[in-house]
Amino acid sequence: MNTAPTETEYRFPGSVEEAIELKEQFGERARFIAGGTDLLLLMEQQRCHPELLIDLTKIRSLQGFSVGGGHVRIGSAITYSQLLASPAFTQAVPFLADAIRTIGGVQVRNVATLVGNITNASPAGDTLAPLYVLNTTIHVSGPRGSRLVPIEDFILDVRRIDLKDGELVTHVCIDIPDQEERGAFEKLGRRRAMAIAVVSVCAVLRIDHGRVEGARIALGAVAPTIMRVRDVEAFLVGRALDTNTIGKAGSLASELAKPIDDIRASAGYRRLAVRGLVRRALENIRARIE
Ligand SMILES: Cc1cc2nc3c(=O)[nH]c(=O)nc-3n(C[C@H](O)[C@H](O)[C@H](O)COP(=O)(O)OP(=O)(O)OC[C@H]3O[C@@H](n4cnc5c(N)ncnc54)[C@H](O)[C@@H]3O)c2cc1C
Repeated sequence: MNTAPTETEYRFPGSVEEAIELKEQFGERARFIAGGTDLLLLMEQQRCHPELLIDLTKIRSLQGFSVGGGHVRIGSAITYSQLLASPAFTQAVPFLADAIRTIGGVQVRNVATLVGNITNASPAGDTLAPLYVLNTTIHVSGPRGSRLVPIEDFILDVRRIDLKDGELVTHVCIDIPDQEERGAFEKLGRRRAMAIAVVSVCAVLRIDHGRVEGARIALGAVAPTIMRVRDVEAFLVGRALDTNTIGKAGSLASELAKPIDDIRASAGYRRLAVRGLVRRALENIRARIE
């Protein structure tokens, strides 16, 4: 049996059009690559064997990043470290910045991209719960033009996304929460750094005169995709954010979660963690308002 490794060709297209053309030409035999922190691991584990890697990081139009007009726009070649270096970004979406700070270590954040976290579509991807509550829109380009997809429709299942032949993600647009909204991100990993989430939670609340006027809450790593817990959101609206309400919201989220047993934690432990992390996120928001 021939066990010699097959060679992988590596190319740096100069434009989105060129990248799309290459992907169309090679089809399933080619993969896009940004930081490579997920893809190279998959290749090392022999879980994928691309003939061609199409590196997107040198394409100028994918290096765009802006904060303004109520939105953050992030090109698919922008790394986590570039985002964290921008005070405009960390002030606009502080809880997304908190989530990014928990990802890997500095070396990983220096090369890995936020768009790569989305297109990798792991239920434990740490930016995903914040991106769900921030109503993120995914901008896709392909041989048949461009289209926009809400993140909830873009991520279909574990490692399955709504990209058709030859398509790539050019950038994402995130809604900046308004002045009356406060958010919090909580993550439980098996250690404090370089650890994938056992459970993560992101919550954004709008509070007026002590009562919740609006709520968006998402759970990570407790279902095949990120879960918006809309029953918990509905439960919170109209109530005072007191200890009783916070306790009940945590318990309700725990009942709604659909976790599985895996190498990182049992389903039962994850349910308990959801209860604790939802409570902690809501308490953090309450403390910030007070
Ligand atoms: C040591 C280590 C620690 C880590 N810790 C964490 C952690 O704590 N939390 C966490 O969430 N993740 C963690 N990760 C995973 C990883 O860093 C993130 O998921 C990262 O955001 C992936 O981005 P990337 O640019 O490296 O993606 P890549 O590996 O380059 O790509 C990932 C996938 O997306 C596709 N892709 C990339 N860009 C595009 C595009 N523009 N259009 C279409 N498809 C595209 C690729 O083909 C591939 O399938 C860790 C990884 C390592 C190696």
